[in-house]
Amino acid sequence: MKQRLALLGATGSIGRSCLEVLRHHPGRFDLVAVGALGRRPAELAAIVREFRPRLVAVVDPRAARELAGQLPAGTDLVSGPDALRQAVAQPDVARVVAAIVGAAGLPPVHDALALGKSVALANKESLVVAGRLLTELAAATGAAILPIDSEHVALHQALRCGRPGEVRRLVLTASGGPFLRRDPATFAAIRKEEALRHPTWSMGDKITIDSATLVNKGLELIEAHWLFGVPAGAIDVVVHPQSLVHSLVEWVDGSWIAQLSVNDMIFPIQYALAWPERWENEFPRLPLAGLGALEFLPLDEERFPAVALARAALAAGESAPAVFSAANEVAVRAFLEERIAFPAIVATVAAVLERHTPRAVADLEDALGWDAWARREAEARLAAAARSR
Ligand code: NAD
Ligand code: MG
Repeated sequence: MKQRLALLGATGSIGRSCLEVLRHHPGRFDLVAVGALGRRPAELAAIVREFRPRLVAVVDPRAARELAGQLPAGTDLVSGPDALRQAVAQPDVARVVAAIVGAAGLPPVHDALALGKSVALANKESLVVAGRLLTELAAATGAAILPIDSEHVALHQALRCGRPGEVRRLVLTASGGPFLRRDPATFAAIRKEEALRHPTWSMGDKITIDSATLVNKGLELIEAHWLFGVPAGAIDVVVHPQSLVHSLVEWVDGSWIAQLSVNDMIFPIQYALAWPERWENEFPRLPLAGLGALEFLPLDEERFPAVALARAALAAGESAPAVFSAANEVAVRAFLEERIAFPAIVATVAAVLERHTPRAVADLEDALGWDAWARREAEARLAAAARSR
């Protein structure tokens, strides 16, 4: 039977890669619903004409008005802040691909898991904001959370080689981003265009900046903790500039299992959609003999304090990771709008975390409440900093 999917964030970088996987396996999927913010109505309309989903969900009502005239007859359109949640709730949607960026992905991911629908998750922020809540919900309803993030897909595969008690540690690889070898004394002069030029991956703007600050690796550490139930102390980060070894598991007997593939998100997306099967494809293969040297270097925590900050937020627990993620979203937007300098991104996150006393996140409302609190705090700090300049 075909998988009946809802693809949320269809117009984004992961969304487009997911559509490429769907195109490659036409017999395997029925794309029932697509969702997006709505800033690219023409692209969304083209996706609808090609894949013929029954439902289109856009958050932005203006985009909905623009789209209305462009959709084929028989396509339903929902819009507004709850549009993605409505898409997830459709009875004919069996599985959700969450490719929205930021905590905006949390409500639909929450609903999917509550309804017992498995989620292929690119939207790592939702798991960072509400990791305990989402994993407990998934365990209660039997819904699977399958990572799409390449590091976690690597770990998911490596972990199939042994039992949980045999794992010594998980090692996340990090490309190091565009500033791995740049003099930190010049970080304040980094221009947005430089930060948006990632050396090995082509991605949306927010995650590209997160990769430059290494906040992305901090988010991934928290994500790995919740996905695999491994304590933070047994999750390490190693810099691997080639981005070909996507992560590794070290076992108690000193063995390592690593996973490699071409650094294109079509591979982890196909893995997540095929699991527990593995499907053949005609995607490009890694030319192993032509690769040359693969480097592994320690992470310089002084230059990139974001991973240690994420570790501290995870150790503080409860609402602290939600605050880490939300303050970062605000700071990244401010950097992209050229309101703050590059080092101020992580400094803002640290300052907001410092003012935060962790509290339990018992439900979606709590999670969104702490997300909102951290956004207000971060905005207030940025406004104060702007006034003092
Ligand atoms: P992107 O900016 O390219 O796309 C984001 C998508 O989310 C768009 O379709 C947009 O319409 C939608 N969206 C944005 N704001 C929204 C809102 N407020 N409400 C509803 N929808 C909204 O981002 P991306 O690079 O595709 O990343 C998506 C997610 O996947 C992020 O969580 C990112 O960390 C994760 N991820 C991305 C990659 C990658 O290679 N791009 C790799 C691993 C993980
Ligand atoms: Mg990743």
